[in-house]
Amino acid sequence: MTRSPLVHSLELAARLGAVASVCEVVTTSPLSPSLTAVTLRGNAPTLAGQPGNDAMILVGESDEHVVRRRYSVRSVDEERDEFTLWVTTGHDGDGSHWAASAAPGDQVDVIGPRGKILLAEDVDWHLFMGDVSSLAAFYRMAESIDAPSQALFVVEISHSEDALTTQLADGVGVTGVFVDRAQRAPNDPAGLLSGLAALTLPPGRGHAYLFGEFSVMRALLRPLADRGLESTDVSSKSFWRAGRPNAAHGEPVKSDD
Ligand SMILES: Cc1cc2nc3c(=O)[nH]c(=O)nc-3n(C[C@H](O)[C@H](O)[C@H](O)COP(=O)(O)OP(=O)(O)OC[C@H]3O[C@@H](n4cnc5c(N)ncnc54)[C@H](O)[C@@H]3O)c2cc1C
Repeated sequence: MTRSPLVHSLELAARLGAVASVCEVVTTSPLSPSLTAVTLRGNAPTLAGQPGNDAMILVGESDEHVVRRRYSVRSVDEERDEFTLWVTTGHDGDGSHWAASAAPGDQVDVIGPRGKILLAEDVDWHLFMGDVSSLAAFYRMAESIDAPSQALFVVEISHSEDALTTQLADGVGVTGVFVDRAQRAPNDPAGLLSGLAALTLPPGRGHAYLFGEFSVMRALLRPLADRGLESTDVSSKSFWRAGRPNAAHGEPVKSDD
């Protein structure tokens, strides 16, 4: 029998204007050296929200504190009442441990839908830049682009098998660049900067979505401005920070203390 959400999940969801539900793990499957797909069942259409939204998962709990991590929804199957997350598991953290050890039948508190960055309307092209942690969001968003349009991807990967792809609607042109991290530090923006420099941006108005490591996201803002994007044409969100665990509520630590 499915239990009820914990009281602090219900309170947090109310504060966030979201919904707390208990979901059941249906399957987990490794997709690549860095990513594991986790499919959850329960209240899926609500928790999954729209392309760009994420769900907040309770990944660890002790007497003292609760650890939540946010994962973009990769896909939703309304008929089955299921949604799937792509979770990075190539590092040592509460979220990666949760995904690596999750088993069918596990029950987990989920708060959703979360997140404010959705697909921009009335633009001619969409530019998605980040690392593997951003692929779920990028592909769900890109799959919802109406033709005619163009989607451009610059994604840094550490393993060639992380170069997962997707199929977009007919009439949506795709330019995809996977940049090899080549042993660079995860907060070194050089890879994405060189990928951007090599890219010819299409004519017309575009919107850029930057999801990934804290310092890398910051380093991309100026070069995008130099390429003609107004600040309102760029949506940036740090997903994690090199060398620093995310805070218990799921956000990367912003201060340098
Ligand atoms: C809105 C939002 C959406 C997100 N969507 C996704 C998503 O779809 N998929 C996803 O995997 N993550 C996503 N994240 C990031 C996710 O919430 C976690 O921060 C991340 O999985 C790390 O959590 P953790 O508990 O495993 O590690 P933490 O305890 O946060 O960190 C432990 C250590 O691992 C390092 N680390 C953390 N993440 C990575 C990484 N990706 N690569 C290398 N080292 C890392 C940290 O620097 C730290 O040193 C999202 C974050 C936000 C805010």
